[in-house]
Amino acid sequence: MRKKSLLFTISIILLSAVNSYSQISKPKLVLQITVDQLRGDLPEKFMKNMGEGGFRYLKEQGVWYANAHYGHANTETVVGHTVLATGADPAVNGMISNVWFDREKGRLIYNIEDSRYPILTENADVDASTEIDQSQVIAATDGRSPANIITTTFSDELTLMTNGKAKVFGVSVKDRGAVTLAGHTGKAFWFSKPKGEFITSSYYYTEYPKWVKQWNKRKFPNTYQNKSWQLMHKPSTYLFGDRDEQEWEMDMAGFGRTFPHQYGSKDSAYFGSYLTFSPAGDDITLNFAKALIVGEDIGQDEITDFLAISFSSTDYVGHLFGPSSLEAEDNMLRLDSTLADLFAFVDEKVGLENTLIVLSADHGGPDVPGYLESFGIESGYVSPDKWDKEPSIQALKQKFGIGQELIHDFFPPYLYLNEKIIKEKELDLEEVEKAVAKELMGIKGVALAVSSFALQKNQLPDTYLNRKALRNFNRKRSGNLLILFEPQYFINDFNGEKVAVNHGGPWMYDSYVPVIFAGSNLTGQRIIRKTEPKDIASTLANILGTKPPSGADGEILYEVSNLLNNKNR
Ligand SMILES: [Zn+2]
Repeated sequence: MRKKSLLFTISIILLSAVNSYSQISKPKLVLQITVDQLRGDLPEKFMKNMGEGGFRYLKEQGVWYANAHYGHANTETVVGHTVLATGADPAVNGMISNVWFDREKGRLIYNIEDSRYPILTENADVDASTEIDQSQVIAATDGRSPANIITTTFSDELTLMTNGKAKVFGVSVKDRGAVTLAGHTGKAFWFSKPKGEFITSSYYYTEYPKWVKQWNKRKFPNTYQNKSWQLMHKPSTYLFGDRDEQEWEMDMAGFGRTFPHQYGSKDSAYFGSYLTFSPAGDDITLNFAKALIVGEDIGQDEITDFLAISFSSTDYVGHLFGPSSLEAEDNMLRLDSTLADLFAFVDEKVGLENTLIVLSADHGGPDVPGYLESFGIESGYVSPDKWDKEPSIQALKQKFGIGQELIHDFFPPYLYLNEKIIKEKELDLEEVEKAVAKELMGIKGVALAVSSFALQKNQLPDTYLNRKALRNFNRKRSGNLLILFEPQYFINDFNGEKVAVNHGGPWMYDSYVPVIFAGSNLTGQRIIRKTEPKDIASTLANILGTKPPSGADGEILYEVSNLLNNKNR
């Protein structure tokens, strides 16, 4: 009798030990951070002047993959974010570019537009006059949803595994930075520049949660009124301290090319845009994310929650001033303190030991041609809007008996032909595509012009660029030709909107991003093995024990997975 009860006691002790062990080690929160346009080398390049608790914490306490590259051709924002969310290539997840031509609807589509789900706030849609990336202006509606993402996201799989008990959220200044990571089953909030408020669409809510109403009512962005973006430190301590004014920097909507950049009055038409062109945008995103963590009780129980935050300022600053500028350098230091602030807050509310942090970027970014040329590196701009008038294309039109335009439009990386006239003239589309591709390959700055028929039939040699083109090719959404530029060649005039430089290419500066895991008692490691950002979703699924997202075919990053799985099982 006594023996039996002793055994009973021991087994109870053992059982509770096992239970508490697994409770401690399973993260209460997966915090997925995306920094828009954070090229892989930038955090360490500027770490000397960074503080504690941000990138330095990630470096000392995190598993840092220092050789991660995207494998698709079109390194744009929605494309990268969706790869991070789904672990699938754009060819598979369907998000092949920021815009594409929908042949059934007969018009261009902005990636996450959805007329069925209007924004809950009136007149909160994008402000066309200050939109750096004109793709968003193309949307035919202010409605937004993740419906165009074909495969599931890791966040979806977490929802399914927990039967909807996991709390899943995505937050960003950009709609596509939030909607993609929240997936089909989470909730997304993004920033309205005209309103200065965080908004959502009827896909997610019929009415704003109380804490969102309260946050918007507080008008936190207005605290920037009549202030300015100033340098954090003395100019002499900066690598680019002697380069505040570079001729290629953009004076967007009067925000200026030198410090201090004035935010001006909250009543000015550009106030909301100025905030996003500077570190203020990230600070506002952080402030809202903190309210979300409190308002939704994130990470407060044993069911793992998911919060994705995409910080957009680095992208805007990169487009306007270039990554090699005093603005970009100061932005990195401020991003570092924003991250330190976020990690300290999460530590207080959830505990970093209970949080699995993963940080990456949707794409890298190139240096501005002017900067490269100041060091003798050849660089330049290409003008696809002039290609229809090129002598070689004119000759081709004559051959096919086409009097009108043949090259209808170019939305990177896809070129759209005038299919109507090709049909009218009873020409063979495949033959025309291939003939145009051949001629475009002769234009300066073009590295690859390939017809969609060739991609579909897989008639191409196995080269670096063709592989990237294939991973970007979706039969229903891709344009007639995929165009890739030579290294250091860019478009900068995009439907009348000029920027200093554009990412979106297949080359290293655009594909290179950090992939860093931290928290959950991980210890510092620097991994130089080649990895891909799409490995993140597969790895998270493996660690949390969900099934892989439906298109996820990344590798499992075993340095992180082994460590955490040994604890969990
Ligand atoms: Zn981006």
